Amino acid sequence: MHSNVGTINVMNLNRARLIVVARLVLVLPLAAGPALILRAQTAPRAWAIVGGRVADGTGAPLRSAGVRIVGSRIAAVGRVSPQPGDTVVDASGLVVAPGFIDIHNHSASELANQPAAESQVAQGITTVVLGPDGSSPWPIQAYLDERRKSPAAVNVAVMVGHATVRRLVMQEDYKRAARTDEVAQMAELVDRAMREGAVGLSSGLEYEVGGYAETSELVELAKVAARYGGIYMSHIRDEADKAFDALGEAIAIGERARIPVQISHIKLGTVGVWRKAAAAIGLIEDARRRGVDVTADAYPYNAWSSTITVLVPDKRYDYPPSVEKALADVGGAANVLVVRHAAHSEYEFRTLDAIARDRQTTPVDLFIQIVKDGGAGVVCTSMVDEDIRAFFQRPWVMVASDGGINVRHPRGAGTFPKVLGRYVREQQWLSLPEAIRRMTRAPADRLKLADRGRVEAGAIADLVVLSPATIIDRSTFNDPLALPSGVEKVFVGGELVWDGGRSAPGRSGSVITTSGAATRSIGRRVAAPTGERP
Ligand SMILES: [Zn+2]
Repeated sequence: MHSNVGTINVMNLNRARLIVVARLVLVLPLAAGPALILRAQTAPRAWAIVGGRVADGTGAPLRSAGVRIVGSRIAAVGRVSPQPGDTVVDASGLVVAPGFIDIHNHSASELANQPAAESQVAQGITTVVLGPDGSSPWPIQAYLDERRKSPAAVNVAVMVGHATVRRLVMQEDYKRAARTDEVAQMAELVDRAMREGAVGLSSGLEYEVGGYAETSELVELAKVAARYGGIYMSHIRDEADKAFDALGEAIAIGERARIPVQISHIKLGTVGVWRKAAAAIGLIEDARRRGVDVTADAYPYNAWSSTITVLVPDKRYDYPPSVEKALADVGGAANVLVVRHAAHSEYEFRTLDAIARDRQTTPVDLFIQIVKDGGAGVVCTSMVDEDIRAFFQRPWVMVASDGGINVRHPRGAGTFPKVLGRYVREQQWLSLPEAIRRMTRAPADRLKLADRGRVEAGAIADLVVLSPATIIDRSTFNDPLALPSGVEKVFVGGELVWDGGRSAPGRSGSVITTSGAATRSIGRRVAAPTGERP
């Protein structure tokens, strides 16, 4: 386990040392003993953020207020006078908001390599929920222990992946419905994962392993997650022509398993369902009126990024008529950009249409060859802005990136600033406080995190100081890792992790588990999940 020193930033460390030296001189002759020295070493750092306006996460209008941080918590909000020893931050012209909670984030494997999570904190993200789309680290305990041992700049929570447990049980023989005994084994694994701290069950029913599951399998597993207060979060079975059936299935799972449902990256992704957002919204709002707890999240892009096989819903990747329809459904091969293809890296960042012309083949034959050669990552322009706007204007739609560190889609480095810069400031689809609520309090409430996603005294000091006048994304499909601008300072657990355009040394990210209680890397688990959430 890391020592205390490993998790506080360098400035803080130096300051603590200075104080210790001073006290040694003064105190030792009086034989006051080590208690005072210890207190000096752990004296919490305090900040006073003054002169700015606060968006408290509830959606309430901005108000002029200061925020004082002591240690890892917010000590005061309102009229704040800096105390001696406080580090004062002038937030004139800036907005102080809760740190953004990204409920759909794919940084699980990269966090170990890039604990500073630069592209995430640069957006104002302070918490990432990992393991979406049915695919999660395993075992959950080992992964979370690793994060506790080597904390990142961001807090982490993990969903247990349906495909992950399905694969563990069925191994290579997963291309079929599971037998009752296999579902029971999967349920045991989900139970274990929830006890180890997962915050819910994720599924990716459009993907290879999860796609073979029957609805009843998902209901049984979701019931287990529900017992621990978890949510069911799903990349639904179809985001194209059968999107409405797939939404219906997700709602039914929520109803039958009595579990809150989060529809991941809600979208209408083919020509056949374009401009039908009102109907999708109607389906969800009907369910909500019946008492089914359904919410969703969305990213602010009209193109998705996934594996090339996702384009073909009937999974006949080498059957030309299926491939032809798949390409027509997204408006043609010019809308499909290859971003990763190990067998031919020269294809990367070119469209299927352009590559096919170069190679004097058809897009359909090229597609089939790419799948034979190991598949590819693609970005596919397949949505219309009026649907995106309709979703973003519903109060139950959160902002989530579906991105993460090193994700080769601009959403990986641009999602949150893009919503605040383009949808809020430029196009005025929604107000700034409301957009911030969808990034903070709404996901915090979804995960029952009582002390995050809000700017109020006593809450954990996960905070973003941003410029509402300049915040903007810079990442593009050709330069997906470009960092955004306009996020001035980011605090995680009271420590600075982003400061004036660059990473700060703080590695103060906590591990957040089912109970909503967090454990610091240096601390003990505050409340182990007991099976029932309070
Ligand atoms: Zn997904």
